Amino acid sequence: MPTLYLSHTDCEKHVMLEQHPESPARLRAIQRELDQNHWNNLLERRQASEIDDACFAGIHPRQYLDMLAELKPGEGIARIDADTSVNKHSLRAARLAAGSGLQAVEAVIAGHFNNAFCAVRPPGHHAEAAIGMGFCIFNSIALAAERALSLGAERIAILDFDVHHGNGTVDIFMERPEVLVCSSFQFPFYPGRHDQVDRPNICLTPLSEGTASGEFRQAIERDWLPALAAHRPDIILVSAGFDAHREDPLAGLLLSDSDYLWLGEIIREQANRFSNGRLVSMLEGGYNTEALARSVAQYLTGSA
Ligand SMILES: [Zn+2]
Repeated sequence: MPTLYLSHTDCEKHVMLEQHPESPARLRAIQRELDQNHWNNLLERRQASEIDDACFAGIHPRQYLDMLAELKPGEGIARIDADTSVNKHSLRAARLAAGSGLQAVEAVIAGHFNNAFCAVRPPGHHAEAAIGMGFCIFNSIALAAERALSLGAERIAILDFDVHHGNGTVDIFMERPEVLVCSSFQFPFYPGRHDQVDRPNICLTPLSEGTASGEFRQAIERDWLPALAAHRPDIILVSAGFDAHREDPLAGLLLSDSDYLWLGEIIREQANRFSNGRLVSMLEGGYNTEALARSVAQYLTGSA
């Protein structure tokens, strides 16, 4: 069965400041990498569509959506925080990013695919219920989890291997035991929020600067595998950020391309063991465009 691959060229119209690392070039680099012929039979490419307003319920409050609508600039940009801003295309891009996660969950739960990857931007895992931050506007992975619950899934696991902690996802689900959130991240590091939460459904794996492949893999096996075995999720969702790569300019972990192949393989194994194969991954960070593109290809190979 091919992997459902969701994206949209309008995600490239969301542009923040000049030289901002979260740039349209990221999606273009992934696209170029996956344009190589051998991917044609492996991916079923479809366009993302925008999330419906009703699907924000339970994740982002009305006041937050209204605040964003008021922020939408005609020309130029408007800031959400010091490193997150919107231009006139940004809210559509964010709605497409969030919508792709819902489409992926729907297709996987319906049994049309057992693997889906959403190549979209802006990313989402730093967005808390009522606070956009860290390049993120809507928490797309949380919205996807809520959709899975509404379609009858009883237990969800969200795995987040972005180098930055998924504070937004923890903020949204820390009092909801049906959603297990496992997050590995450089520590201490940005964003410094919700990174010491003590809840049975929150599994945190802080990693010191300079952590490389061997130690990283051991930590994931030690923390995530028992948490997944205890939770037995009906579907696994992944905040797939690739900025723990050694070539990434924003952070200080030392993963290489092959670690993303390994992550894809180990997560696929867990999805097959507990979740009837159901796996949906969404792009989060990754700011060296070449390393990002190669790592996405490795991850897609491993998780197929
Ligand atoms: Zn990140």
